[in-house]
Amino acid sequence: MQVSPRVYGVHISEERKGPGAMHPGGTNIYFVGDPRESMVVIDTGEHYRTWSLRIQEFHAELGSPAIDAILVTHGHSDHIGGVDRLQEYFTRVRGRNGDGCRVRCHPRLRERLGRILGDPSIVSPLKSREVVRTGGGAGLRALFTPGHEDDHVCFHLPGDRVMFTGDTILGASTTTVRDLAEYMASLALLETYRPETICPGHGPVVHEAAPRIRSYISHRERRERQVLEAVGHGHNTVAAIMSYIYPRNLRRELREPATRNVLTHLTKLAKEGRLTETPATYSLPSGP
Ligand SMILES: [Zn+2]
Repeated sequence: MQVSPRVYGVHISEERKGPGAMHPGGTNIYFVGDPRESMVVIDTGEHYRTWSLRIQEFHAELGSPAIDAILVTHGHSDHIGGVDRLQEYFTRVRGRNGDGCRVRCHPRLRERLGRILGDPSIVSPLKSREVVRTGGGAGLRALFTPGHEDDHVCFHLPGDRVMFTGDTILGASTTTVRDLAEYMASLALLETYRPETICPGHGPVVHEAAPRIRSYISHRERRERQVLEAVGHGHNTVAAIMSYIYPRNLRRELREPATRNVLTHLTKLAKEGRLTETPATYSLPSGP
């Protein structure tokens, strides 16, 4: 599918195995630039042969353009799984006279990707706010956006007003967050670029970017207020705060993410000095 003049995306939908799909709304790989000149690819999907083949097929559908580089949003397996296979493939397609396809990522990810690729010289770390140029006059600005993961990078394509958000903003749901304070700062940064379209790592493309970013911010702010309110009412354990905020009959598979979510809020509030944390109590595990 073509998203904007210089953005094409291949959507990989996933079969539901057991409760819930692995990635709600499937996974997206993007090709950016001009198919008649050259392009870059954003992310490489899981390390399944079928996924890599689908991406190669889409590359052929675009007319097998030269791929200057693979840009990586972050180091989770569903984003870097195919990196070795696809880097090799894109380098081979370019022919012997072309430069090899480079892999560009957050500096924190450099060593790991170098090991996966078996050749660290293929990987060039991005600089914060660096602009990566490719065909069609496209220039993608790398925005370091920690929160979901500390090696996360979003890419902004100002000409098409597109923001590639990896797992920082998803198309169909909210995302998991490792560091909420950093995550909120990253959302605020994305908002300042005023994109029109969000191309997420998972789920459908979002055509009204501004309200989506806003709702992500206000959703977390609302939760934070609820957590503070719960603590204000004397609920001082994660379990008590949970049952104050969430409905009693919360589905079993949502309980664990909800607990983690409350914990990330508490960690942020404690870090900011807005809550005091006292050591937890300990007991022996209840064994057989
Ligand atoms: Zn992720």
